[in-house]
This record gives sequence, C-alpha cells and structure tokens, in this order.
Amino acid sequence: MRRYQMFIDGEPSDSASGEWFETANPYTGEPWAQIPRGTAADVDRAVGAARRAFAGGPWPELTASERGHLLLRLADVLAREASRLAEIEVRDNGKLYAEMSAQLKYLPAWFRYFGGLADKIQGAVIPLDKKGYFNFTRREPLGVVAVITPWNSPLMLTAWKIAPALAAGCTVVLKPSEFTSASTLEFVRLFEEAGFPKGVVNAVTGFGAEVGAALVEHRDVACISFTGADSTGRRINEAAAATFKHVSLELGGKSPNIVFADANLDDALNGAISGIFAATGQTCIAGSRLLLQSSIHDEFVERLVKLAATARMGNPMDPATEVGPVTTPPQYEKVLSYIDIAKSDGARLLLGGKPASKPECGTGWFFEPTIFGDVTSSMRIAQEEVFGPVLSVMRFEDEEEALRIANDVRFGLGAGVWTSDIGRAFRMSERLQAGTVWVNTYRAVSCMSPFGGYKDSGLGRENGMAAIEAYLQTKSVWINT
Ligand code: NAD
Repeated sequence: MRRYQMFIDGEPSDSASGEWFETANPYTGEPWAQIPRGTAADVDRAVGAARRAFAGGPWPELTASERGHLLLRLADVLAREASRLAEIEVRDNGKLYAEMSAQLKYLPAWFRYFGGLADKIQGAVIPLDKKGYFNFTRREPLGVVAVITPWNSPLMLTAWKIAPALAAGCTVVLKPSEFTSASTLEFVRLFEEAGFPKGVVNAVTGFGAEVGAALVEHRDVACISFTGADSTGRRINEAAAATFKHVSLELGGKSPNIVFADANLDDALNGAISGIFAATGQTCIAGSRLLLQSSIHDEFVERLVKLAATARMGNPMDPATEVGPVTTPPQYEKVLSYIDIAKSDGARLLLGGKPASKPECGTGWFFEPTIFGDVTSSMRIAQEEVFGPVLSVMRFEDEEEALRIANDVRFGLGAGVWTSDIGRAFRMSERLQAGTVWVNTYRAVSCMSPFGGYKDSGLGRENGMAAIEAYLQTKSVWINT
C-alpha cells in the first residue's frame, strides 16, 4: 500500500506522531494508501516554514511579476499532471473520472488567471482634505494563509484559494480533508519543479479536530480560507476570532432549481438531473430542491423519475458510468438517515431511497438516485443539506410563490431558473437570495466569475478579480511635505 509523506519547508516529512491512517477507495471500500496523521507540532513546523518564507524570506524578495511567472509555470506543470491527479482523486472520492479529469484539466486556468493578476495589485494616491501631506495606500499580503478543504473536489477547491493567496504574496499551509489527502500531497510536490522557494507552500495532513484546529488557533496564521460544512465553518469562525484572523468561508447549500412552464423542458430536465445527481449529489451547489410550476408538475415528475431510474451506476473510471458511489461511510449513513426523516415528515418517495445493490456497484458505498415528491418547506428534507443523491420536488403556482419557497432556507449558495421569458429571468435573478444564479443552465463555474454564498452559505467571494482581496490588507502612508 502506498505510504505518503507531508510536505514542510520544501521537504517530504513524516508526522511527529509517527502514525498514519488509511484512505479508502469508495468504489471498493478498500483502503489503498496511508496518510500521515499530523499533529499540532507538525502544524507549528509548517506555519514556521511559511512564516520564514514570508517575513524576510525568499517570497517577498521576488517582484510581483516574478511571483506571477511562477504561478504560470505551475499552471504548465499542473496541465501535464492533470490526468494522473484526476485518477488519484477518483480513487479517493469516487467521483467520475470524466468529471474529475475535466475539472483538473481546467485547473491551470486558475493559476494563469491569478498569475496574471499578481503584478496588477495597486495602491492609490488619496486626494486629501488637508494641506501639507501626501497620502497613498499600499496593498500588502496578509501573511500565512491556512487553506482547509473538504473531500468533494480536493484540488479544485484548493486552487480557488491558493492561486489568489500566492498572487497576493501570501505563503500557505494546506490542510486537505482526511478522506482525500493524496492528491494534495502529490500536488504540493509540483511547486518545487515550478521553481517556488522552499516554505512558500506546505501541506499537513490529519484530522480536523487536531490539525485543522491547530491551524485555526496558531498565532502566526493570519488568514483561514475554508471550504466545508456550515457547522465546521461556524466553529472555525468562532475560534479564529480569538486571534482576529481574517476568515473566508465557503459553506453548504440547499439550492433551488426552478422550472417554469415556459421553459425548454428537455433542457430543464437534463439540468435538474445533472444538478442533483452529478457527483452523486456531493457538491455544495447541488440543485437539491426542484421547484416545478403546477401546470407542468405531473408530467415533468414522470419524465424525471423515468430518466433518473436509468442512471448507470458502477465503476467511476468507466466512461459509461453516470452515478458513482458516496465518498465516505459517514456520508453514506447521513444519506440513509434522511430517507426516514423525509418519509416521517410526509414526503412521498418516488424513486430509490435505498442502498444500490447492482452487481456493477461491487462492494462500494453506492446509494440509489432518490427522488421525493410532495415536499414542502416545513420538512427537514427541504431545509437541510443532505450532500447526496437525494432530490426534493416542490410545487409552485407563480413567480411570487417560487421566490418565497426558493428563499425560504437559511442557505444561499446557488439557484437555477429555467424559463424562456427574459423579463422573468431578470426579475428572478434580482430577487433570489443566492451568490450565483444560473438561467437555463446549472453548475457552470469559472476562475473569472465570483463565487460564494449569501446567508449561512458563507463569507467572502472566491474566483474573479475580487478574490485576491481576501488575502490583502491596506496600509495608508502619510508623508509630511
Ligand atoms: P467538513 O466541514 O467536515 O470538513 C472540511 C475540512 O475541515 C476538512 O479538511 C476537515 O478536516 C476540516 N475540519 C473539520 N473540523 C475542523 C475544525 N474544528 N477546525 C478546523 N478544521 C476542521 O466538510 P466535508 O464533510 O469535508 O465537506 C462537505 C461540506 O463542504 C458540505 O457541507 C458542502 O456543502 C461543503 N462544501 C462547500 C463548498 C463551497 O464552495 N461552498 C464546496 C464544496 C463543499
């Protein structure tokens, strides 16, 4: 079995604990690699290395253009390694190779985009209301950034954070999910080949309550950039307040996918299916609430159930597979628990609702694509994030009711609107409480377009030019002339 090492100060490193834990393949349920069980002492070493690289070390010695060029070089190295890293991610999180390889092939774009931004970070000259002074601002990097990521898209979510953080001039310590650490440990080795100085990028693996918490508490970490569950985000935000850390939080969702009767219903059907069943529902932007206008409700549900029932489950490496396994045993148990919760709240099970037992599912953690009908906002299945292949179908009469239902959750990450009425598209996108609204499409993301949550779905924005702001602070300089 492959045994990995962490990466601290430019060197592969075992953990101070001398312990490893196993990471398993969700398709087989079998462990395939050993990951170092990091400790607070390892965090201290990694933060120390990142701090030295940042303060008086090699990173600030480089010009912003030189830092940008390193990011461009990294993009080239990453492009070469994309397929190999995608295979590792599939082995760790069970998502389809087709999806992971497309995701990782697109990933160099983040390093090119933010590499290009590195030398365009500028201060300003301030026109004062006082005579005898010259006042200008400098944009300065925050310092050491801790990047804490979940298991569903390990390297993509890491890139969203690390590319702007490095472009801003920060140094980083990566802490991947304990369920999917392998690709991050491979990725971090690429920085050396791209020419990054030692200590600029470090990786410590282990459990959230140990390594994650130690990063959040560490005095020399200036910023926590986190993606994960809202409950973890809340804990991190509270703990980070003790040392006044900057915090960026990308959390969960319960996103509405709203189909009006005037929509192209074939497109809407495909959007509804991929919105929830892509990645086995394990995406923060899953369109887990399908809102259907009454006049098309029954026919749409019939087609939806028929189509979802044909989804091919099986080996995620097989290009013919459409739905892979659930990534972790706790997640599998969570999905299972919501079946009873939904039923006892009065939702009507229309499809699935149980573990998949087809021979092509082998010994993996597979769950059947599941659809509940007659769901109302008061039910837990309409309010809580399942993070699995479970769709709640709800009915509405008109725009006002669609908006009321769509916004009646504590989350606000994404929303889909399917309509052929351009006026309605504008009205809905204005009034939906979500960080991203997709009209006649779903799940599109780009390094150039801001991404983040309203309400309990998070704080701050990733992607787009403004993402770099999360890693900068402003100094105002007064000169007595
Ligand atoms: P999680 O919150 O359990 O874990 C995320 C990371 O936080 C892991 O690396 C974990 O080790 C670490 N962690 C756990 N406890 C910690 C603590 N006390 N201090 C510091 N770090 C700690 O989330 P998960 O189960 O890995 O991922 C699923 C969740 O992520 C879902 O809620 C999903 O919606 C969310 N998510 C959000 C986005 C987004 O961009 N908004 C994207 C993907 C996933």
